[in-house]
Amino acid sequence: MHKKIAKAVTSSLMAASMVASSVAALIPMSAAAGNCLGQNDFDDGIGLPWHICVTNPAEQKFDISGGTYNCTIVNPGGKERGGDSRWDCQFRHRSLHIEQGHKYTIHWEVDATSAGELHTHIAPLSGVGGVWQNNSEQWEQGWNNVKISEGHNEFDSSFTAKETLEVAEWAFHYGGAGPYQPSDCFPKDTTLSFDNMKLECETCGSEFVSASKTPCLWDPTNELGVITPRSDVRINQVGYFVGADKKATYATSEEKSAVSFTVKKNGTAVFTGKGKPIGFDKDAGDYCQILDFSSVDEPGTYTIEVDDTSNTFLNPKTK
Ligand SMILES: [Zn+2]
Repeated sequence: MHKKIAKAVTSSLMAASMVASSVAALIPMSAAAGNCLGQNDFDDGIGLPWHICVTNPAEQKFDISGGTYNCTIVNPGGKERGGDSRWDCQFRHRSLHIEQGHKYTIHWEVDATSAGELHTHIAPLSGVGGVWQNNSEQWEQGWNNVKISEGHNEFDSSFTAKETLEVAEWAFHYGGAGPYQPSDCFPKDTTLSFDNMKLECETCGSEFVSASKTPCLWDPTNELGVITPRSDVRINQVGYFVGADKKATYATSEEKSAVSFTVKKNGTAVFTGKGKPIGFDKDAGDYCQILDFSSVDEPGTYTIEVDDTSNTFLNPKTK
């Protein structure tokens, strides 16, 4: 009973912060206390922050209709088709925060037009290491893909985070055969319809605490429904060379003033800088900013972070 009251209070606080947001109408009011996601169902036709992602030559079509987010695998990708593996086709939600020791519950549903399997995880954007995968509470024990039946599938799961992930994603991988993936996840032309996605932090939702103490709860001002600008850090895929200029591009679908960015090594910031906006790039079809981190000159693997977007790269090459 006590817990219930506390939840109600937190819920009304969240509602208040939604009203303060200029796009309050876009935020699903079904957001419950403890909700860590920006979108739970797709009843109002809004998919974001959920989105699909493919790696060439994989291809997906999607539409948000009938209250579900429907992803059709046009080309699964995978090694034999010139792609890589199951991660060539993805459906995912980024900008999540996971806090060490917090307890989470998960629910997700998918309707599949064909049986198959997929990989799902909550992990850093690099996909390396994480806190939950394939409905397993233990990352290390979750390597087996989730089997998906033709028709309706529902899953419930929970986990306690072993570590804090400042920026995490919940991703589904269902592309073609390749490393770690002996066969295509689904036949070509399979449609996966996702619905009722829930990631709730019981720890954050269980007490009356200020927003700063509920780090996992979705902040409606963070990424805003349909008007969310798409953004992306684009790096040199082959890495960077010692002594040479090192630049990445930050691309957004809407014009943005100069952003701050951070280059991290093993989670520690080694360089911070400001983007240099160069306006709309016709070839890229985006507004672009140049992120110059030429002074980072020690070989290693780094992450570059802009707001909620990050990308891992090998830098610099020693040759
Ligand atoms: Zn939490």
